Amino acid sequence: MSNKKTDYDVIVVGAGPAGVVAAYMLGKNGINTLLVDKKPKEKIGDKVCGDALSQVITSELERLTGIKPPYGEELNEVTERLVLKGKRKKAVLDIPIKSQTIDRHKYGQRLLREATAFKSVSLRDNVRVVDVVVDGDYVSGVVILNKNGEKEKFSSKIVIDTSGFTGIIRRRLPNGVCPKVLRQIPKKEMIVAYRDIIITKEKHRFQKGLYLLYFDDLPMPGYYWAFSKGEKMLNIGLGYLLTKENVGKNIKEINQKVRDRLFSNYEIITSGGHQIPARLPLPSLVGNGFMTAGDAGALANPINGEGHGPALLSGAHAGIVASNAIKKADYSENALWSYNKWVWNVYGVEFALGVILIKFFEKYSYDDFDWMLAKGIIREEDVVQVLNEPLNKSQILKRALKGIYRPKLLLDLKKGMEIGDKIKEVSMKYPSSPEGFNKWYSELQKLEKAKI
Ligand SMILES: Cc1cc2nc3c(=O)[nH]c(=O)nc-3n(C[C@H](O)[C@H](O)[C@H](O)COP(=O)(O)OP(=O)(O)OC[C@H]3O[C@@H](n4cnc5c(N)ncnc54)[C@H](O)[C@@H]3O)c2cc1C
Repeated sequence: MSNKKTDYDVIVVGAGPAGVVAAYMLGKNGINTLLVDKKPKEKIGDKVCGDALSQVITSELERLTGIKPPYGEELNEVTERLVLKGKRKKAVLDIPIKSQTIDRHKYGQRLLREATAFKSVSLRDNVRVVDVVVDGDYVSGVVILNKNGEKEKFSSKIVIDTSGFTGIIRRRLPNGVCPKVLRQIPKKEMIVAYRDIIITKEKHRFQKGLYLLYFDDLPMPGYYWAFSKGEKMLNIGLGYLLTKENVGKNIKEINQKVRDRLFSNYEIITSGGHQIPARLPLPSLVGNGFMTAGDAGALANPINGEGHGPALLSGAHAGIVASNAIKKADYSENALWSYNKWVWNVYGVEFALGVILIKFFEKYSYDDFDWMLAKGIIREEDVVQVLNEPLNKSQILKRALKGIYRPKLLLDLKKGMEIGDKIKEVSMKYPSSPEGFNKWYSELQKLEKAKI
């Protein structure tokens, strides 16, 4: 594999946040890269989203890559609080924490310009990748459908799948190639989400805030959000897990019902929906000649569907690891493995709580959750802790033990938090080479299957 001449060193499939940042890092390292997207160039970056993106992430991205955080017209607003509002009057968490809402299209266009400014990066827009090419047990290229409806084949040493939720390359990997990479994500591990961007006539009531709202008529596990993008502009919408009970529900109708209850006198600028993975990261995101990042690698937080930040940072890390592999002329699973370890040490730990909350909602109702919020069993400081020190054991455990009214529910919560802590521990013990994978994965699977 290593001695063959290829059209490109690396092909990056999809120019969303994960893909453009991967291409940027490859370009920075002088790696001969093809970036492909099915959208026309001017539409790249325009993705259905809640538009919330943590400042901590964009600062980390700048540190890693040199890419500046959103500024000017790319930045809608710096928000000052995160509010979780339940049904009962006391079921409110109001956390003074800064974040930002952005114009995804403008930010995405700048990232694309910066990535393609490198001489070694070329863009093919408006072309759909339809298949993967393999050579023995290595991924060795892609097949695209061009504007004239003709198929073209391109070869490379590494293909990075950053095609978002569709995971076009990952899903088409033949048997025997990249055996550790999961092909399908089951429905019950997907969030379906829909959003509107609206302009209100008067100043809206969610000023400078990211609000997560809960209602009786919301499919659970799910959430409704109202994210301020300015005094009279908001991104509003809902997302819920595609459990058996939720399949077939009409998300547009639910959205409209809640929207009309919350707002009057508004104009809709744009609407749309899409799906988001809601699970732990893929157990392995690499194989011989293959890597995946962003939604294609299941890197969105199952708690709230936030995947823009993980896409940016995983794209950067994938680009760095792929660049080193090209320089060393080794594109094997082994050479790319350190990327897996980074993903699990960061996102295995971060997503553990989300997976536990999903288990909790499989057993209990929204009303139980609302009760816990109202009784102060889940508090502001818990959210701050989850954000700042994800590895530490949660204080909820201690409080749950003191619960006197609903011992069964609180003991189950305790059990859930303990499973979550074990998932974090296992994530930190991700094996340093592929040899340790099977043993590690069977330990993880036991925790994934554990019931609360
Ligand atoms: C309604 C909604 C609200 C959300 N809100 C938030 C939020 O507030 N904050 C947050 O952090 N995240 C949010 N997310 C999630 C976030 O949008 C994604 O996690 C993020 O966009 C993932 O980035 P990505 O680069 O992996 O994929 P994408 O952004 O999906 O980019 C994939 C790219 O690949 C291209 N592509 C796909 N298939 C092919 C193909 N076959 N050939 C060529 N090109 C292809 C697409 O055109 C696209 O440009 C939300 C998602 C939804 C649906």
